[in-house]
Amino acid sequence: MEIVAAAQNRRVKTLLILGASGDLTGRLLLPGLAGLVGTGRVPGLVLVGADAAGSGEGAWRDRVERVFAEAGQAADDAGRGHLAAVAAATRYRAGDVTRPGVLANMLAELEGPTAVYFALPPAVTEAACAVLAPEEVPEGTTLVLEKPFGSSAESARELNRTLARLVPEPNIQRIDHFLGKATVLNILGLRFANRLLEPLLGREHVAQVEIVYDEDLALEGRAGYYDRSGTLRDMIQSHLLHVLALLAMDAPASLGERDLRDRIAEALRAASVPGDFARTTRRARYTAGRSQGRPVPDYAAEAGVDGFRGTETLAEIEVRVGNGRWAGVPFILRSGKALGRRRKEAVITFRPVDHLPEGFRGHDSPTRLRIGFGPDTLALELDINGPGDPYTLDRVDLRADLNSPNLLPYGEVLLGVLSGDPTLSVRADTAEDCWRIVEPVLAAWAAGEVPLEEYPAGSGGPAGWASPPPPQS
Ligand code: NDP
Repeated sequence: MEIVAAAQNRRVKTLLILGASGDLTGRLLLPGLAGLVGTGRVPGLVLVGADAAGSGEGAWRDRVERVFAEAGQAADDAGRGHLAAVAAATRYRAGDVTRPGVLANMLAELEGPTAVYFALPPAVTEAACAVLAPEEVPEGTTLVLEKPFGSSAESARELNRTLARLVPEPNIQRIDHFLGKATVLNILGLRFANRLLEPLLGREHVAQVEIVYDEDLALEGRAGYYDRSGTLRDMIQSHLLHVLALLAMDAPASLGERDLRDRIAEALRAASVPGDFARTTRRARYTAGRSQGRPVPDYAAEAGVDGFRGTETLAEIEVRVGNGRWAGVPFILRSGKALGRRRKEAVITFRPVDHLPEGFRGHDSPTRLRIGFGPDTLALELDINGPGDPYTLDRVDLRADLNSPNLLPYGEVLLGVLSGDPTLSVRADTAEDCWRIVEPVLAAWAAGEVPLEEYPAGSGGPAGWASPPPPQS
C-alpha cells in the first residue's frame, strides 16, 4: 500500500546521516536507502555521512559503496545507474555535533533542503538538538529522530519543546520503522477495505488481541544500549503500541497525514494498562541456554550488562482501550529475546458463536485472524465440515503469503523523509502518550511490585507463561 505523499514540494535534496560509523547506519539505514535509491524514486539525492571521526572519509565511502553495490544486484540498469551516482557523489564530515556551531556549520554548507538523520546515541541527539537551538536552522530542514524518543513522558515533552524551537512540526520525523513494515501498513487495507472484517472488530465479537514479537536473537553485542532500556521500553513502548493503534483505531477519512495520525493518536489516548500490575504485567530475564544452535551466556554475565539493574529481556503487558468499541477487550503485548522460537504476529481471537447446533464434534478452538510480521502472512483460522465425518469439525487456515519485493521498512520510512511526507512518522503528542501508557508499569517494576522471573535462553519463557486463554463471553 502506498501512502499519499502529502507534500511533494518539500522534497529533500541532501540526506545528512549523523552516526556514519554506527550500527544502525550500517545494518538498517544504508540498506534501506540503497533499496529506495535503486527504485529511482529519489533522483539527484546527495548523501553525506558524519560522525565524531570514528570512521573517516575512506571508511564511509567503502561502507556506502559496498551496500549500494549489493543493492545493485536486485536493481535494473536504471536503478544501478542511480545507485552508482549517489555512491560516487557521497561526502563525509567529521565533528562532535554536541559542540556549539558544528552541526549548524555542516547545515550551512550543504545544498538544501536537508534532512538530518540523528543516528546517534539518544543523549548525543538531545545534546546536539539543544546546541542547535540558538543557531539559524536553514528553512526547509527536516530533523529525523530515532527511538527511543526521550525516556519518559516528561523528557519526550522536553525534547518536543526543543525541536519545536528549531523547525515546524511537519519537518520533524520521529521514526518508528514498524510503521514502514509492509504488513503493518497492510492492516489498514485489510481492515478498512473489507466489509467482512471491519464490523467484527470490537468488543461484541473479539475476545482478545495479542501482539507478539518474540525473537530468538540474544543481545548481539548491544548490551550498552539494551541493558539501560529493556524490552518494555525497546519494543513495547514504541513498536507494539503502534501496531495496537492500527488494529484498534477507527477508520480515518483519508490516508493523508493528518487524518491517519489523528486516528492513531485517538486510539493511543484511550489506552492504558489496568493498575493491578502484578496481574496485568509480567517480566523476565534469560539465563544461560542455547539458541540457534549456539550457547548463550546468562544475560547478567554478558559483557556490558549490570546484573543488578534488573533489566528484563521478556515483557508482557495487558492494555485496555477505554472506548465504546473496545471496552473490556484485553490487548496482550509481549516481546522477548533469546526465546526458543521466533513469533512475530498479531492474533485476533474472536468470541465463540452464540449457539452451536447440538451434534457437532471437535469444535474446541475459537476463530482467529493471524497477521504475521515476518514472514509476512495472513491466516484466518476457521472450523469447517471437512473431509470425513460431516459432524466432526476440521480446522482450516485460509492463508495468504504477503512476502513481496517491497522496500525494506527503513526504505519505506526514508521515502517519507525524503519526499517531505511525515505520515509514517510519530507525531509529537503520540510520542508522549506512548510513554504515558508504560510509565506506571516501569515505576511499579522499579519498586519491585512485579517479580523478575527467569527463563533459560532457547526456551519458551518462564514456566507458566503460556498465553492465557481468551476470556469467554
Ligand atoms: P552506535 O553506538 O553504533 O553509533 C553511534 C554513532 O554516533 C557513531 O557513528 C558515533 O561516531 C556517532 N557519535 C557519537 N557521539 C557523537 C558526537 N558527539 N558527534 C558526532 N557523532 C557522534 O549507535 P546505533 O547505531 O546502535 O544507534 C543509533 C541510534 O539509533 C540510537 O538512538 C538507537 O537507539 C537507535 N536505534 C538503533 C538500532 C540498532 O539496531 N542499532 C535500532 C533502532 C534504533 P563515532 O564512531 O565517531 O563515535
